[in-house]
Amino acid sequence: MDDEVISFDEVKKLLIEQHYSNDDIQEIETAFEFAKKLHHGQYRVSEEPYIVHPIEVVKILISLRADKHTLMAGYLHDILEDTDTTPEELKEKFGEDVLNLVQGVTKLGKLQFKSTEERQAENFRRMFIAMASDVRIIFLKLADRLHNMRTLNYMTPAKQQKIAQETLDIFAPLANRLGVGKIKAELEDLSLRYLHPDKYYEIAQLVSKKKTEREMTVKLLIESISKDVQKSGINAKITGRAKHYYSIYNKMKRLNIAFHDLYDITAVRVIVDTEKECYEVLGLIHQRFKPIPGRFKDYIAMPKSNMYQSLHTSVIGPRQKPLEVQIRTWEMHEIAEYGIAAHWRYKEKGVQRADSNIDKQFSWMRKLVEYNKETQDAEDFVNAVKLDLFSDQVFAFTPQGDVIDLPANATPVDFAYRIHSDVGNRTVGALINGRIVQLDTKLKNGDIVEILTSKVPAPRLDWLNFVVTKQAISKIRQWYKKNKREDHIELGRANLEHELTKVVFDEYLKNGEFEKVAHQMNYISVDDLFAALGYGETTVNKIVNKLKKPAKPPEPTFSGKRHKASEKDIIGLEGLLYSFARCCSPIPGEPIVGVVTRSKGVTVHRLDCKTLDDIPPERLLDIRWSGHHVDKTYSTTIRIETAEKMGLLKDVISVVADNNTNINYANCKTRNKVGIIELGIELDNIETLRKVMNAIQSLPEVYSVRRIQTSYNQAPQQFSKKNTKNRSGKPTPAKPRKKKTD
Ligand code: MN
Repeated sequence: MDDEVISFDEVKKLLIEQHYSNDDIQEIETAFEFAKKLHHGQYRVSEEPYIVHPIEVVKILISLRADKHTLMAGYLHDILEDTDTTPEELKEKFGEDVLNLVQGVTKLGKLQFKSTEERQAENFRRMFIAMASDVRIIFLKLADRLHNMRTLNYMTPAKQQKIAQETLDIFAPLANRLGVGKIKAELEDLSLRYLHPDKYYEIAQLVSKKKTEREMTVKLLIESISKDVQKSGINAKITGRAKHYYSIYNKMKRLNIAFHDLYDITAVRVIVDTEKECYEVLGLIHQRFKPIPGRFKDYIAMPKSNMYQSLHTSVIGPRQKPLEVQIRTWEMHEIAEYGIAAHWRYKEKGVQRADSNIDKQFSWMRKLVEYNKETQDAEDFVNAVKLDLFSDQVFAFTPQGDVIDLPANATPVDFAYRIHSDVGNRTVGALINGRIVQLDTKLKNGDIVEILTSKVPAPRLDWLNFVVTKQAISKIRQWYKKNKREDHIELGRANLEHELTKVVFDEYLKNGEFEKVAHQMNYISVDDLFAALGYGETTVNKIVNKLKKPAKPPEPTFSGKRHKASEKDIIGLEGLLYSFARCCSPIPGEPIVGVVTRSKGVTVHRLDCKTLDDIPPERLLDIRWSGHHVDKTYSTTIRIETAEKMGLLKDVISVVADNNTNINYANCKTRNKVGIIELGIELDNIETLRKVMNAIQSLPEVYSVRRIQTSYNQAPQQFSKKNTKNRSGKPTPAKPRKKKTD
């Protein structure tokens, strides 16, 4: 067959029948001519000219009354894949919208589906919808698949099986989800034909055998109720047909019965004008024929999630044969056949419906309804229907082809923990689509993610800065709780020591007071108590409240006071009670973050404070210094290492005093012939602190000066003359956490 003989005429006739405008028809024709020219010389397996396929796809789309761009894309949908045409050329000729549609179908065409268990199939369907960004792309894909199924007999048996299974797993349920009952039924029947040909032909044969019987049943039913119907002034159309093969097959399978035992393969459909009449007709039928208990379903009051509405009942019909009856209005019928497409079918036809059910009942497409309220015009509606139903989700593949669904912004680490917590814990790197990526890379739909693992589990705390799944967050924390006991003990201990002062802390340790409190709080040992404090299971306050009061209560330090934010030294804490964390003693000018506590309002920490690692992101507040001068000082502690020389403390103190800084605490000791001075100081901002530290540093005999953050490891300020090491010898702390804003 030569494509010369193939013209636009047949489609043109359909377009005119469906009231497409002359301008639209002309534009659609240019797409046809272009596609025909490009596919010239190409043939399908059936040996027909290739252009026959796009034409049939367009015809299916016309039956759905798709808009003109969708029809044009229908002609062009295989162009990018099968010819040399470039996207630029398509865009120039037919515009961006048509290009997007064609590219969308092409992209979906490249997806490799794996027929597997139901859960995976559902993920595939959801990913499909998520990737299709525009509902029209799904209709294009469904039309494409429908025609390919109609011509599947030209393929090899192996391909037939694969494509039919995929259709049954992915495409028929998608059609169902969009409510396109017409396409769903045909896809299912065609799939059955290739997957279970024996059953298919058995059913087909028997259905046709019973045709006469079926027609008789319907005739008798019409005769017996038509009088009543007319009397009620109802305009009803009654038809009877066999249910579709796949639903018969399913029923046989479900009930485990042979075909001749299957009584209700006939479905009678009554279509009326109004919802009220549906119930009236139901009443009339139940008067004449005995309803079968348990078979009545009111999908009018309770529509299916894909908008389907009808009354279903089964009765003992004429000649004592069971009979299924569906009763619906014309509008419901349209929706049952065309689903979401019924919407623009109606709008385009200009049929005004005072009370549109579609708008109310497409629950899973609530978003669409929102668009619809804003855009009354049909064309706007179609154009606005962007399928962001799953925009809060992202679907990625394992190298084996399983789909993993994750929340938007998920990273390879989330992916790893979703596979298994052990995979997550051992993650050291990731490949996305074969390329090495950073672990905080955000996954995109369709990404193939490969996780690189180490033998030893070693999750990182800084992952908490970017992971988004609860699973990952809790597993990382859990691991740290279990495996970093020493760190937690040290941290808890440091926090308490800082709160109580060293003298008091040591006293409690010696006199067994901590042990008492530990037992009171159901911890086995003092270390357990410190560890619990370290990972945040308990608080400093709780412990301190249980301790016997020391003989001489320590002077409250400035940082212990609470401030009302009216002084506005910090932005982001308006109206909140807050205090400065003692572990890191932040000073104006350095990055800070707020931590919401249960009882003390907000604690202000330095952004690089180690204690933040175990705090869940939802408790962090994005705050910053206002930069206004408020009449207030801030305390911090510095540690100075000196040559062992008497009189040096005096020099240090005088340097500090010269720089407008108060000293509220000093401690000197000597260790290995090195003098160690710890100074608690109060000053106004980070500039002053730098000046003070520089001044101390420039004193002869001073080896190093640095700020200390309790006794926990921290990045030291680099002022040392000697090469001082990170005090605890631990690896440098994790990247500072930030509040998640994206
Ligand atoms: Mn195609």
